[in-house]
Amino acid sequence: MIEKNIPLKAFNTFGFNETAEEFARFNSSEELTELLQHNKNKPLFILGGGSNILLTKKVEGLVLKNDIKGIKIIEENNDFVIVESGAGEIWHNFVLHCIKQNWSGLENLSLIPGSVGASPMQNIGAYGVEIKDVFAYLLAYNIASEEIEKFDAEQCKFGYRESIFKQSLKGKYVICHVAFKLSKQAIKNTTYGAIEDELNKLGISNPSIQDISKAVIAIRQSKLPDPALIGNAGSFFKNPIVPETIVDTLKEIYPDIPNYPNVTGMRKLAAGWLIEKAGWKGKSYGNYGVHKNQALVLVNYGGSTGKEVFDLSSEIIRDIKTKFNIELEREVNIM
Ligand SMILES: Cc1cc2nc3c(=O)[nH]c(=O)nc-3n(C[C@H](O)[C@H](O)[C@H](O)COP(=O)(O)OP(=O)(O)OC[C@H]3O[C@@H](n4cnc5c(N)ncnc54)[C@H](O)[C@@H]3O)c2cc1C
Repeated sequence: MIEKNIPLKAFNTFGFNETAEEFARFNSSEELTELLQHNKNKPLFILGGGSNILLTKKVEGLVLKNDIKGIKIIEENNDFVIVESGAGEIWHNFVLHCIKQNWSGLENLSLIPGSVGASPMQNIGAYGVEIKDVFAYLLAYNIASEEIEKFDAEQCKFGYRESIFKQSLKGKYVICHVAFKLSKQAIKNTTYGAIEDELNKLGISNPSIQDISKAVIAIRQSKLPDPALIGNAGSFFKNPIVPETIVDTLKEIYPDIPNYPNVTGMRKLAAGWLIEKAGWKGKSYGNYGVHKNQALVLVNYGGSTGKEVFDLSSEIIRDIKTKFNIELEREVNIM
């Protein structure tokens, strides 16, 4: 059923109060086909959990909320399992389901908000793991041909917070199912960030994947604002990847600038450090601003607009360019 002028406040983690001209839900690719056949040539927006979008105005056309559910085993042996999930499953619930079965690979990605279907969009990642590391394939509906197509990791062209679905195929496909190849032996990835410190705090020296998940959850809860309490979309900007020569120049002025290995000749900088160093951390403009503990996160304290937060992000981008000659890029999808 297509509804008109539906408020989207409850459908985006920033909590912005824009409306959708038209809104409908689908829970199968057949339902999706039917909805699209009656709505040819209208602008279309596929909505998951709304945790990576910034609504700056009324959304024209049809907003389709993906509610395709279901988790099933496609292939299994003593070493691994290929598990396929409906795109409308909640990501964290899917991760917990896999952990419960002792399928290893997703535990470092615990508590990332959003849906399974959006996870390949920007190759979600955290604590040293990205979904590309355990991705098997996805099934996506081609809006033009009305056919379901299968994509492997190579075809998805995954990069840092990137995939082909954010680039050349943007707006052309609806991801309906995503499958992951998970290991039956625990592959422990605890060297990144504060995971080891957190495990030490808990007195755990030989962690299970359940322990790793718990540690990741505890770290995330202590560091990131809960969207249920303060509107936000997680990291608003990507960490910039720049040539080593630029890092060397910056090091002369900022010897302590954090920088990490990347592809040959390039280094990754911490956008949060740059924003904090430029004096933005904790800046508040009444009902919106930069989070007080995490400079990478822009927040809506309630009652602000997406346009205000967008303008703030533009000012931050300009300032970082002036101060460090670094071009920040938004991670969040602007609507
Ligand atoms: C507190 C917080 C912490 C976060 N931490 C992380 C983190 O650690 N790592 C990380 O990578 N991200 C993080 N994020 C960002 C976000 O959780 C992810 O990007 C997540 O995958 C978004 O899922 P979603 O279902 O909410 O997508 P939405 O916000 O609904 O959509 C995002 C984009 O994907 C498109 N899309 C969604 N579903 C489909 C589909 N089925 N088919 C086609 N297109 C689709 C939408 O059209 C939109 O362009 C965080 C966000 C928050 C609020």
